[in-house]
Amino acid sequence: DPNLMLSVRVVRYGRDQRLLLARDVTRLHQLEQMRRDFVANVSHELRTPLTVLAGYIETLQDDVGKDDPAQARPLALMEQQTTRMRALVDDLLYLSRLEMDGDRGPAPEAVDVPELAETLAEEARQLSGDRAHVITVDADPDLLLHGVPNELRSAFANLAFNAVQYTPAEGTIRLSWTRRPEGGGCFAVSDTGIGIPARHLSRLTERFYRVDVGRSRDKGGTGLGLAIVKHILQRHEGWLEVESEAEQGSTFRCCFPATRVSSRSDGVTKT
Ligand code: ADP
Repeated sequence: DPNLMLSVRVVRYGRDQRLLLARDVTRLHQLEQMRRDFVANVSHELRTPLTVLAGYIETLQDDVGKDDPAQARPLALMEQQTTRMRALVDDLLYLSRLEMDGDRGPAPEAVDVPELAETLAEEARQLSGDRAHVITVDADPDLLLHGVPNELRSAFANLAFNAVQYTPAEGTIRLSWTRRPEGGGCFAVSDTGIGIPARHLSRLTERFYRVDVGRSRDKGGTGLGLAIVKHILQRHEGWLEVESEAEQGSTFRCCFPATRVSSRSDGVTKT
């Protein structure tokens, strides 16, 4: 059967005996595939009607909302909610796309992380606005990362924007890109924010998992950001490390193995 999927495990017993355990996971695999297709289709189908609604709301705001304060507030709320729904649908669609092509992404390129970090810091300052966070960058200019630029941008942006969302006004946020002592490199975002109690840490990258549902929703979060980050890192043979203390702050670190980095000064560009 060409569709048969087995999960195989070798168990040692006795002095030099081996036991091969095989489990039929065909059905499980099919269900997982159906779930992915379903989510992808639903989010795709929701996109157009949402765009149409958003368009009409904007027109109404321009027409009646301007002169009639009684209409302005409900219209503003409608706009807020459609914006949230669109963010959710976009994140769901992006996550399904990542899941669909499994661990194979587009061909990697050399990514200038220091430049990317500066851009993200600027965007984070915009997002911070009046809350006036102090946002700094400390990146090794010699260290290149090999990966898919858009995906890495999306992963690092998620962490930087979360830091802004979950750090009170005037807090400090630091973006860094450094070599790992063991080889490879890490992009890290540290904040002096609300932090995360230890019991939540292991579940943060689950879809829709939130430490504080109300707080996250108010800030426009979809609950999908860290799930997206985890998928993107997997496609880059990387992993996420989180250190956090409630009320003190958090550090999210995206780490990559030595095979994914190189020195700019070497003049070699791996592909
Ligand atoms: P959301 O869209 O809700 O921010 P994420 O997947 O990006 O979803 O994050 C999951 C949850 O992890 C958030 O709801 C929040 O509770 C917590 N979290 C993420 N980043 C931080 C941070 N820098 N400080 C404190 N909590 C955070």
